[in-house]
Parts: sequence; structure tokens; C-alpha cells
Amino acid sequence: MLAQRTNLFGSSGTAAARAAAKAAADAGKEIIDLTAGEIWSDLAPTIRDGAIEAINKGINRYTDTIGMIELRDALARKVSLDTGHVWKAEEVAVTTGAKQALFNAAMVLLNPGEEIIIPAPYWTTFPAQVQIAGGTPIFVDTRSNGHVPRIASIKAAVTDRTRAIVINTPSNPTGAVYDVQTLMGIAELAINHNLWIIFDECYGDFVHGHQAHHPIVSVVPEVRSRTVMVNAFSKCLALTGWRIGYLAGPKEVINAVKSLQSHTTSNPNVIAQHAVLAHLQRGDGSYESTLRSQLASARQIGLNVLSSLARIPVPAAQGGFYFYLDLSDLLRPTSGKAVSTNADDIVNSLLSEAGVATVSGTAFGDPLGLRLSYGVPADKLEAGLRRLVELLNAWE
Ligand code: PLP
Repeated sequence: MLAQRTNLFGSSGTAAARAAAKAAADAGKEIIDLTAGEIWSDLAPTIRDGAIEAINKGINRYTDTIGMIELRDALARKVSLDTGHVWKAEEVAVTTGAKQALFNAAMVLLNPGEEIIIPAPYWTTFPAQVQIAGGTPIFVDTRSNGHVPRIASIKAAVTDRTRAIVINTPSNPTGAVYDVQTLMGIAELAINHNLWIIFDECYGDFVHGHQAHHPIVSVVPEVRSRTVMVNAFSKCLALTGWRIGYLAGPKEVINAVKSLQSHTTSNPNVIAQHAVLAHLQRGDGSYESTLRSQLASARQIGLNVLSSLARIPVPAAQGGFYFYLDLSDLLRPTSGKAVSTNADDIVNSLLSEAGVATVSGTAFGDPLGLRLSYGVPADKLEAGLRRLVELLNAWE
């Protein structure tokens, strides 16, 4: 018999979609996989060199639980540059990816029974972690407002049990980038209701068109004492497998995270820490800008193909590397026909009939959404989206 806690979470919806794509490919089907939450790219040379140098030096021991002080110093400098305010190493903890940073935050900030506001559609892990930590996720729908929450909707969701709000900008899955006005409204609410802000900016490097990414602590510096910023190198350096993330926040939070992490995973992988440190010391930004251009061009290719969709609006795709499609019109019941009920049916047809793997919005609390990743090679992206458009335009 397993613990009751296991009822609170299933396997992540995105991992399940990846597994379905792999199973179809293993069965011999030619699959174009648009499920990935990662970017197809070579390794940054500075990362590779930093790791090899560390191995050649024979480095093999534990580091400080929340990361080597040199790396925390370098990260504090990065956060200072990103936010325009001075941060110190004691306000930064290195983690095994952003996922652990978020889990740490949930565990050290939440009491059992407290509520956390999460704008929906949401990244599938946010509510799962809140529940594991004993909290209750409260969702605020953003679909009628360009996938950015209305301040009035957040306000209506606040109760005397509310402890925090999760902000993810640019958002996975929707790609929405929060504007300054919204961030100001959220900051004011957090101050008035004494809430923590968990600010996930893992996709902050990828904003498109006229959009700009704004750390909430830059917009309203007064919220710094109640904000935990979460970031990682998984997306911005196409480094998902190396598992280096970090959180930046008040010293008391970092100290609690240090104790927690000392009982869970200890330090993040030492070779990966050295690799990221080498990159922060020697990287000249060219790798990042190549990655950004690659994504900008993939986004344009994708939007061109998606503009032929007959009954689905072209997605805004403001940030990150996802197209998020609104399938409402397609899934509207039509008279006399057996109708699909949610995006799962479309995902299944795309996989079995068109050989295109996608992620259903049900993984993100939105049965009418569909997420497509464009972090894949351009030829695959174009071919996959063409097949998708053909199938969806013929959908009855
Ligand atoms: N936060 C968001 C919004 C994500 O989309 C992801 C990964 O997809 C993560 C955090 C986790 O990132 P990491 O791989 O660094 O743990």
C-alpha cells in the first residue's frame, strides 16, 4: 500500500506526452515530436570546456549544499545585472534544475492547508508541487484575457488562507509575457495581502517581437522581501540534462532551502556547477544570441504555416518556444455528430493519423488547448506543422 500522498500527483502530463511519442516511434512509426520542453541545439563550448577541465582536474567531491560560493557569487552578479539591483551570494541557492528550486520554495514557504494562486493554463508541475507540500492550488483563468490574469480575478481568489501567487513569465505553455501594468497590480496585491510571489522566469531570455521580459522586483522593488525568483540554465543554454537551476530570494528563505536541500539531494552535480561557472566567467553572449535567432526564425516559420489554420486563431507566441493553440471552435459540438470532448482526442489523432506528437492542454488545466514546441530543427517543425494544419483543417 502506497502513501496517500501518491494520490496527489500522477506522472507529469508533458512527460506522458513525450513517452507516447517515443512509444509510437519505437513501434516503427515516423514521428515528428513537437512535445519537447527543450531546445534542439549543440552544447555551448564554454560549458563543454568547463566540464572537461573539472573532470581533468579530478574534481569529485560534495560542494556546499546550495552550490559553490564562486558560482553563487557569479549568479548574484547575473541576477544583479538582470534586475538592476544588487544581489549577494547569500541571497542565491543553486539547485538541481528550476524544478528543485520551485519544490524547495513550496516546501519552505507553505503551511498545510494554505492556498497558492496559480494562473491557468499553468505549467503542470506547479499545482503538483503545491499539493505535495500540503497546500491547495487555486486557479485563476486567463483564457479570456490573452493568457495574462486580470488583477480583479486574482483579487477575487484571495482568501485569508492565501499564502502566495505563482507567476511564470514568459509562460509555459501559453507563451504569454506579463506586461508592466499587470506586474504592478500583482505586486500591489501581494503587498496588501501579505503574499509571497514565486516568480518563475525560466523563459526570460526568449521574448519575441515588441515584448520585453520584466522581473517583478525591477518593476516594484518593494516586493523583493516577499519574492522568490526561480531560474535555470535548462532553457537559455539548452542544457536541460545538466540540471542546474537557482533561486534568488531573502536570506531566511535561502537558509531554509539550504537545510532542506541538505536532507534531500545535497549539492547539485559538481561537474555541471563548474561548467556553468566557466560559462558565466568566459561566455561572451554569442551562444545565447545564436539560440535566440534560431528560435526567432523557427517561430516565424511556424507562424507562417499556422496562418493557414482555418478554425484556429494564429497563436500570439510572445515568449518561450511554444505555440499554444485555442481549439474551442474545433471542439464545439456540431449537430448530429459524435463530438470530441477535449484536446486529448486531437492529440491522439495527430499522433496516430499524422505522426505528429503534441501536448494536450489537459496537462495544463485547459481541455481546449494544444501546445506545440518549436525548439526543434526547422525542417521537422515545418513538416510537422503542415501535417497538423492538414489534419485540423479537415477536422469535423
Ligand atoms: N519552470 C517552467 C515554467 C518550466 O517550463 C520548466 C521546464 O519545463 C521548469 C520550471 C523546470 O526546469 P528545469 O528543467 O530547470 O528543472
